[in-house]
Amino acid sequence: MTLETGHIQVQTENIFPIIKKFLYSDHEIFLRELVSNAVDATEKLKKLSSLGQVSGELGSINVSIIIDEAAKTLTISDRGIGMTGEEVKKYINQIAFSSATEFLDKFKEADAGDKTNIIGHFGLGFYSAFMVADQVEIITRSYKEGSTPVKWSCDGSPNYTIEDVEKEERGTDIVLHINEENKEYLEQIRVETLLNKYCKFLPVPIQFGTNEHTEKVGEGGDAKEETMVTPNIINNPDPAWIHQPSELTDEDYQSFYKELYPYSEPPLFWIHLNVDFPFNLTGILYFPKVGNNFEMQRNKIQLYSNQVFVTDAVENIVPEFLMHLHGVIDSPDIPLNVSRSYLQSDPNVKKINAHITKKVADKLNELFNNSREDFETKWDQIELFVKFGMISDDKFYDRAKGFCLLKNTEGKHFTFEEYTEHIKATQTDKNGQAVILYATNTEDQDAFVQAAKTRGYDVLVLSNLLDNHFINQLEGKLEKTSFKRVDADTLSNLIEKDEKQESVLSKEEEEKVQHIFTDAISDAHVTVLTKALSPDDQPILITKPEWMRRMKDMAAVSGGGGGMGFGNLPDQLNLVINTNHPLIGKVLNAEGEEQGKLTTQLYDLALLSQNLLRGQKLTEFIKRSVGLMN
Ligand code: ADP
Repeated sequence: MTLETGHIQVQTENIFPIIKKFLYSDHEIFLRELVSNAVDATEKLKKLSSLGQVSGELGSINVSIIIDEAAKTLTISDRGIGMTGEEVKKYINQIAFSSATEFLDKFKEADAGDKTNIIGHFGLGFYSAFMVADQVEIITRSYKEGSTPVKWSCDGSPNYTIEDVEKEERGTDIVLHINEENKEYLEQIRVETLLNKYCKFLPVPIQFGTNEHTEKVGEGGDAKEETMVTPNIINNPDPAWIHQPSELTDEDYQSFYKELYPYSEPPLFWIHLNVDFPFNLTGILYFPKVGNNFEMQRNKIQLYSNQVFVTDAVENIVPEFLMHLHGVIDSPDIPLNVSRSYLQSDPNVKKINAHITKKVADKLNELFNNSREDFETKWDQIELFVKFGMISDDKFYDRAKGFCLLKNTEGKHFTFEEYTEHIKATQTDKNGQAVILYATNTEDQDAFVQAAKTRGYDVLVLSNLLDNHFINQLEGKLEKTSFKRVDADTLSNLIEKDEKQESVLSKEEEEKVQHIFTDAISDAHVTVLTKALSPDDQPILITKPEWMRRMKDMAAVSGGGGGMGFGNLPDQLNLVINTNHPLIGKVLNAEGEEQGKLTTQLYDLALLSQNLLRGQKLTEFIKRSVGLMN
């Protein structure tokens, strides 16, 4: 073939200017597209060779990326199948060109907002080279015996030239003459960063520059230091997720985790995804140690397509409640040149989503069944995932209800079924309703927790940020069960039974006590009530009505004070006076200043036990207490 010029068939309009302007911020993807092509050509060669269709030695099959700053070129060089002159015309001038046109047409159709939302920007292919280069050359020699190497050249107009050239080795060099606006792609560090991002786990060794180190050669007195130069391979062509789970040890999984997140603590456990029907999905998802940084753990799952990195923003592919997991998923069946909003309705993505959810539930169930003890030690770390999943996905709720654990103030764990059984005899009220008592803060609510225990009741600890929602969910799902925070009311009101405590005070005396306290406190947010409790109970209790508190908690979670405005309400407190306590009799019999002091002191003590006495009030209380002791 002597020099031949030609014109790429342009159907509608010249696409080159569009490619050049295409998504300015995403220019970098050209490197992924070209290196992927080089890897594909190499994989094809390996395949042909394994079928005995390549004569001679394969030699090195590394893909190399070479920067020539003086010539302002970036070259992607492979030793794959290469192309003949005819193939260049067919694959580059026709097929690649029309697929690039198709991609751009699709892209133009997308709404403005969706344009930046197109997942991975896959599909522009070879012609993405023109995003960063004014001139592109392909120098290629086919693996086929006796084929003539050719050079294709195009300056970003529909005109190209193709001619015979000298090229010793099989394979393809794509030479990009990087233009002024994109000269960052001639910087070592920029290119290395990109290779690390997109090519970290490509299946063929990717070489970028060389490494030098000195080595001792020879023996004894003849020993010499020699400088050794080795190719700098930037990728791991053999990542753990492409193997069968049976081939891998725990150490393999752990060291792969370290490779992904060098600065993280070891994971709790992992799930190996490995499906090839009805969709293709591989990958490893790790449960990290979350600690208190639940929010910071997002966007740690990387999406790959045949080992090519696509994105680490996997919303809509991975269920929301699992967005905090770490790891890798790889699926060629996720459409990558569509907008993210479209993804949700894609049937494959839906199936993948459901599969991941099921796998996670199966794994947790297996851990629970294999070693309950070990599962319990991990529970604090995983309960957020499990509860989030149970709240947001009914199917997951059904799968998890057997292994979801409840923990009581003594640190004992129960499944729902075990717990229902555990409290049945003591905590069923007169209507046959099971009343589950819980504390959100065992320190602050200690007085109430202790009082409940004294009566033989059990108290759960539900203290994490999702527990409000979780409690609502459980009340909706569990039959004849209600949840009450230990400090919501007196215990006998929380778990109403038929037995009744007689009051030692008469009706009139009770009313009088109520008046004394109402006058002394005179606070609209405090409702004073009397109740005949045991003389061993506290003289005064401060309780926070359950419904009011829940409203406030909800408002706080759903965006501070918003919604119905409950978040702005001050605490509504009930003050319950135990008419059977001897000190209340004393208040009733005291007079004047003496009565005032006693009332305030009792009220302050109740506030203090709820951690509600602060500032000036606290100072006065201490002074008064000292005075009383004198
Ligand atoms: P795609 O890779 O999606 O098929 P491209 O536009 O990237 O689309 O490439 C079009 C075709 O050009 C490829 O299918 C392949 O046949 C050929 N090609 C591109 N790069 C190479 C290469 N480095 N070696 C051999 N063939 C290549």
